Amino acid sequence: MAIADSHNPQKKTHDQFVRPGLAKITNIIAIASGKGGVGKSTLAVNLAMALKREGAKVGLMDADIYGPSQPGMLGAKNEQPEISDNALKPLVRHGITFMSMGLLLSEDSPVVWRAPMAMKIIQQFIDNVDWGELDYLLIDLPPGTGDVQLTLAQQASLTGAVIVTTPQDVALSVARKGLKMFQQVNVPILGIVENMSGFLCKHCGKTSEIFRVGGGRKMALEFGVPFLGAIPLDPEIVMSGDNGQPIMENGSNSPAAQAVISIARKLQQYAAAEHSRTSAIEPQQVEILANGDLSILWPDGHQGIHKAYSLRIKCPCAQCVDEDSGRRTIDPKRVPLGITIEAFDIVGRYALGLKFSDGHSTGLFAFTYLREMCECESCRSGNQKGSFSV
Ligand code: ADP
Repeated sequence: MAIADSHNPQKKTHDQFVRPGLAKITNIIAIASGKGGVGKSTLAVNLAMALKREGAKVGLMDADIYGPSQPGMLGAKNEQPEISDNALKPLVRHGITFMSMGLLLSEDSPVVWRAPMAMKIIQQFIDNVDWGELDYLLIDLPPGTGDVQLTLAQQASLTGAVIVTTPQDVALSVARKGLKMFQQVNVPILGIVENMSGFLCKHCGKTSEIFRVGGGRKMALEFGVPFLGAIPLDPEIVMSGDNGQPIMENGSNSPAAQAVISIARKLQQYAAAEHSRTSAIEPQQVEILANGDLSILWPDGHQGIHKAYSLRIKCPCAQCVDEDSGRRTIDPKRVPLGITIEAFDIVGRYALGLKFSDGHSTGLFAFTYLREMCECESCRSGNQKGSFSV
C-alpha cells in the first residue's frame, strides 16, 4: 500500500502510485508455489534468462526466506551487495540484475530469527533497491501464503503471479491455496506451470510419467487461468543449478530449456495483455478536494467527482456490507452529511483505500467500482458511460 506524498497528502499522480524503487519497472511478476521443492526458484532464474534471450531487461528478487537459492544458482554465493546513496545495489550475473535474501542473511541463521528479519529485508527490497529500468522483475517468493507473500502482493504493484506446481495431488492441493490467496488480493494469475512433468530418457527416448502428468493443466481449467506449459524432469537442471550455470546458459537445446523458452514467450503475451488492461483503468491522478470530496482523473481523460458522503454509504468493506447476503448494513442516516475524506492509499494495482473523517478506513474501492459510481454532472445525466470499455 503506497502512502500519500508527505509534502502534499491530498494529491497523487500516477507516477507516485508505485514505490519509487519500482517505478521504472514495466512488469513485476511473482513466481509462487504452495509447497517447497517444486522447482519454483529454478523456474524463476531460468525464466529470467529466457526473457533476457528474448531481448528484455530482467531483474530477479529472491524473497525466499527459507531457501534463498538464487546466489548459488547464479554463481554469486558469499557475495555482498554494495550500498550507495542509501540504496542497495543489486548484483548482475548472466545479464540478470538480482538481489537475494541469501546475500544478506547467513545460511545458518535460525528460522525464528529469520522470519522477523526477513520482513524488514523485504521492505528494503521494495523501497531501497536501485533496480533501475527493467522490462521484467521476477520475484521468487517463499512457498506458502504467509506475511511475505501478502506484503509483496499488496505493496509491490504486481502485474500478476505465476503458480508453479508438480503433478502430485498434494502439491496441486497446496498450489490451489496459493492461487486463491492471490485471487483474494486481486493479483491476476498470469498462468500455471507444471514442473517435473514426466521424465524423458535420453538413451531410449521414452517418456516415463514418474509423478503423473496433466494436473497443472486441469487446475488451470478449473480456475479459468492460462496454462503456461510443462517442464520435464531433467537431471541437468539439478547439475546446472548446483554449478551456478542455469540450464538456459549452457543447455538451451534440452527439452527442459525449450519448455522454459515457450513458457517465457506465453508469459510475455499474458503480461502485456494484463499491463494494458491495468493501464486502461488506473487513475492518472487522485486528489482530495478542499471540501473533503474526491476527484479522480481517469486514463481516458474523464475527471470524476465523488462526494465523501456517497462513498462512505457505499463502502464495500465487510463492516458495511453483509458478506453472505450482500445487503448493506450501514445506516445512511447515521453518516454525518459533512463527512470528509482525510487520506487515501493506492492498494495494489486495483483499488483505493480511503480514510474518512468518522475514522472508518477499512474500505477498498476498486477502480472499476469507483468509475461506475462517478457523480460528475456528465455521468449523472447519462452522457458518459461511467464504466471502462475493457
Ligand atoms: P523450490 O524453489 O520450489 O523450493 P527449487 O527450484 O529449489 O525448488 O528446486 C528443488 C530441487 O529440484 C533443486 O535441486 C532443483 O535443481 C530440482 N529441480 C527443479 N526443477 C527440476 C526439473 N524440472 N528436473 C529436475 N530437477 C529439478
